[in-house]
Amino acid sequence: MISDENIIEVKNLSVVYDLGKANETLAIKDVSLHVKKHEFVILFGPSGCGKSTLLYTIAGLLSPIAGEIWINGKDIAKMNANQIAHIHRIDLGIVFQQYNLVPTISVLDNVVLPQTWRGVPKKIRYPIGRKLLKKFGLEGQENKYPQEMSGGQQQRASIARALVNDAPIIIADEPTGNLDSKATKVVLDILDDLNLVEKKTILMVTHDASMFEHADRIIFLKDGRVVKEELNPERIGRREKGADVVSHKETQDEILRKKYRAFANSLSEYFLNLNELRMKDEFEKIIIDRLEKKISKPAFEELFKKPMRDGGIGLSDERVKEIEKRISVILYETELLRKKSDDELEHSKLSLEIGELRRYLLDDFDKKLSFGQIKALDEAISSYIHKAIDDEQFKRLITLPEIQGGVGLSFADAYTFLSKLKLVLDLR
Ligand code: ADP
Repeated sequence: MISDENIIEVKNLSVVYDLGKANETLAIKDVSLHVKKHEFVILFGPSGCGKSTLLYTIAGLLSPIAGEIWINGKDIAKMNANQIAHIHRIDLGIVFQQYNLVPTISVLDNVVLPQTWRGVPKKIRYPIGRKLLKKFGLEGQENKYPQEMSGGQQQRASIARALVNDAPIIIADEPTGNLDSKATKVVLDILDDLNLVEKKTILMVTHDASMFEHADRIIFLKDGRVVKEELNPERIGRREKGADVVSHKETQDEILRKKYRAFANSLSEYFLNLNELRMKDEFEKIIIDRLEKKISKPAFEELFKKPMRDGGIGLSDERVKEIEKRISVILYETELLRKKSDDELEHSKLSLEIGELRRYLLDDFDKKLSFGQIKALDEAISSYIHKAIDDEQFKRLITLPEIQGGVGLSFADAYTFLSKLKLVLDLR
């Protein structure tokens, strides 16, 4: 009944305010519309035409008196509050004109709020929140309260919050309505990027026609009805070509540099404790310099070991060794990458040998594994890197007894393996 291509589908929707009262208002009148996966659609119309009512009903924040609302294959018109809350956690993130950040908690806590509700532990949700804040140029603002930030900064934080659960749909109600032109441009560029690069589906309300260039399609509303739709072929063309053009233009060196930066970043998040995090930039620079072979191994060791007061990072010999081990894996990957031509890079993903990954997981592991355990571990690694299993299933295979086809290790081991594996896979 519902097309797979449509991530949002609305059928014969009607919404009434103050039902049965003298001031009863039929705000949405028998509206049908759809939004395709990866599309950027604008809902446009004059003030009072029903844009916000329609958007909030699609988001499950208002109940219709009639009609169907299919979000990612589920009809939310018939759902109860708990089920709708689940949709908000999994399927869509909402960005409001007024930002709607909680004033009494830090910006970082605001961003990770949807994860707090999901019960994700701090250790996991904070790095995700920090990464998103950094992505939107809010690094160093994590501990501020919302009112200590500009409107543009608050709106970027609220977009980060809408993305924290990695939902495929973003619903935005006049997200730039309270912003000056400079902050508006930043927010629109972010939304553009989320749509074109990260393939998020976006449904945005605006009464500002100058924003049409950002959308693939514009749906015009008047007096609670859809009166017209317009396609924006130029944007659609850009969206379809966009990603290819970027990847064709990227040279091997650029790909490598990006990988190095991502690696240095995950390494600092993985390695540094809270106190050391203020040395994050220096730490990452040393890693990148080493990967680019700008500094020798002894120089690199010295910088890490030198006390903080002398301009070093002050790490113990043991921890420097740990870092070196990880770097050697990356240098090995780099060698593989260098052997491939640009063309090959386009078509083949850089693949580390399973055995190589296993050695990397086991290189600081003190227990001896049996042949059966190694075989099971290789299978788990292979399934994981080919995305045949998810994080939980990987950990289960590691902890499952050998006799049942698992590796038979502890939960802590499974967690360590998974984090290490993620660290190198982030590079792909
Ligand atoms: P827009 O977002 O296009 O400005 P709205 O969705 O806010 O339009 O409003 C559509 C219609 O519904 C208007 O006639 C408005 O007066 C009415 N309306 C909006 N919100 C409420 C409400 N909370 N109670 C009663 N009527 C409302």
